[in-house]
This record gives sequence, structure tokens and C-alpha cells, in this order.
Amino acid sequence: MPLTAFLTLLDPPPPPEVKQAAAGLKWRAQVYLFLTLDKESVTKDNWIYFPNKDIPFGRTSEMKNFSADMCPPGKTSFFVEFFAFESDAIWSMDKDQVLDLVMPYFEQWGFFTRAEVRQAYLWKRPCVYPVYDMDYDKRLSTVREYLDRLSNLIYLGRPGRFRYTNQDHSLEMGIVASRMILEGRKYDLDTIGSENEYFEKGPIYEKRI
Ligand SMILES: Cc1cc2nc3c(=O)[nH]c(=O)nc-3n(C[C@H](O)[C@H](O)[C@H](O)COP(=O)(O)OP(=O)(O)OC[C@H]3O[C@@H](n4cnc5c(N)ncnc54)[C@H](O)[C@@H]3O)c2cc1C
Repeated sequence: MPLTAFLTLLDPPPPPEVKQAAAGLKWRAQVYLFLTLDKESVTKDNWIYFPNKDIPFGRTSEMKNFSADMCPPGKTSFFVEFFAFESDAIWSMDKDQVLDLVMPYFEQWGFFTRAEVRQAYLWKRPCVYPVYDMDYDKRLSTVREYLDRLSNLIYLGRPGRFRYTNQDHSLEMGIVASRMILEGRKYDLDTIGSENEYFEKGPIYEKRI
């Protein structure tokens, strides 16, 4: 669970300075619109990013381009992501409003038409991305100094550590956490994913063998 939510569950509660530091840690939320389409394919890309400020969504994905087994023949699925704060207008929109918002873009670009949309599903998640603002590091250190004194606690993962780690890092943290329990000693979880080199870069087979 998000580190900030976890702190509110502790009994006895953390000291005021820790609560205050945690209250200043901010998260970015996400709104997802999933569409199933009566269309063989939209594009050949797994993801497309839209940095343009005049486009309301930030990324689209077509899962069939990871694996053809993701959809039956003649159909595809398309996934639209909005990176947002819970105070943004998109957070309070319903499914039809979000669909109305995005369709003009996809129709204009020739991606698909409204008639090709079979079903739409809307999903909203808070606390998806930790916000690294100018004060987060100091606040996080205050929280961690307190939590690290709890000898029977291991907190890990993206929301758990307030760190923008990827899925591989989260899995590795889980493996290391198991070792901590089995071996009865602590490892520094922050060394995971801290390397300068981004490991998705370059041919993976050369790195693994
Ligand atoms: C759209 C999208 C695409 C991504 N693509 C990639 C990718 O291609 N490659 C990659 O490496 N990473 C990708 N990521 C990032 C990856 O998903 C995360 O880094 C990873 O899921 C983090 O794993 P985690 O276990 O730390 O946290 P999570 O997967 O967020 O797991 C946290 C769990 O805690 C649960 N939880 C929350 N609150 C509570 C509570 N109060 N009580 C009990 N349980 C609770 C949640 O339901 C959730 O199951 C993507 C993320 C998103 C959103």
C-alpha cells in the first residue's frame, strides 16, 4: 500500500514530525480508459506517448502488439492513459465523458471510429507515481528514519517505498525481502534500481548471458 496510507494505520501513531513529513509527500494519480474494438489493428506500436499539451491523454497502448494472443482475430484492444492529480477535471469524469473527450482525436487521426468501439471500461487509481518535488527527499528521509527503527517491518515496492521503480525492481525487492527474513539480516533495498544505466537499453540477450 502507499507509504503515506500505511503510516496512518500505525498504533501507536508516528510522532507529529513524521506525520507532517508524510503529509507533504505527493502522488500523481492515473485514469485509464480501456476499449475493445471491432478492428484487426490500430497501429503497430505497443505504446505511443503524447507529450503535446493540447492532447489530454499521455499514452496509448495496444496490447496485441506485445502478443497476438491478447485478442481474438479481427479484434483489438486499445488503452488510453491520463496522468493526473485527483483535483483535475478528468478524475471526476464518468466513462461516457472520457470517451467523448478522446474520440475526436482517434477519429481525426484515422485510428478507429466510434462505431468500431465495442466496449469501454474506465478505471481510476490514486497514488500511482511518487512526485519528486524539491522537498520530497527531506520528507522521505524523516519518514524512513522512523520506519527503519521498527525492527519487524520491511517496506518495499513502488508505493511502499515512494520510489519510481519499475516492475523488475519491485520483484527484486520482494526476493531480497524474502532473503532478509530467511537470513535474519537487513539489506539496503535502495540499491535496487539505483544504477545509472537504464537496463531496458540495448539487446537484452547480451546482458543476460
Ligand atoms: C500503465 C502502466 C504501465 C506500466 N508498464 C510497465 C512496464 O512496461 N514495465 C515495467 O517494468 N513497469 C511498468 N509499470 C510500472 C509497474 O507496474 C510498477 O512499477 C509495479 O507494478 C510496481 O509494483 P509494486 O508491487 O511495487 O506495486 P503495485 O503493483 O502498485 O502493488 C501494490 C499493491 O498494493 C495494493 N494495495 C494498495 N493499498 C492497499 C491497502 N491499503 N491494503 C492492501 N493492499 C493495498 C494494491 O492494490 C496493489 O495490488 C507500469 C505501470 C503502469 C501504471
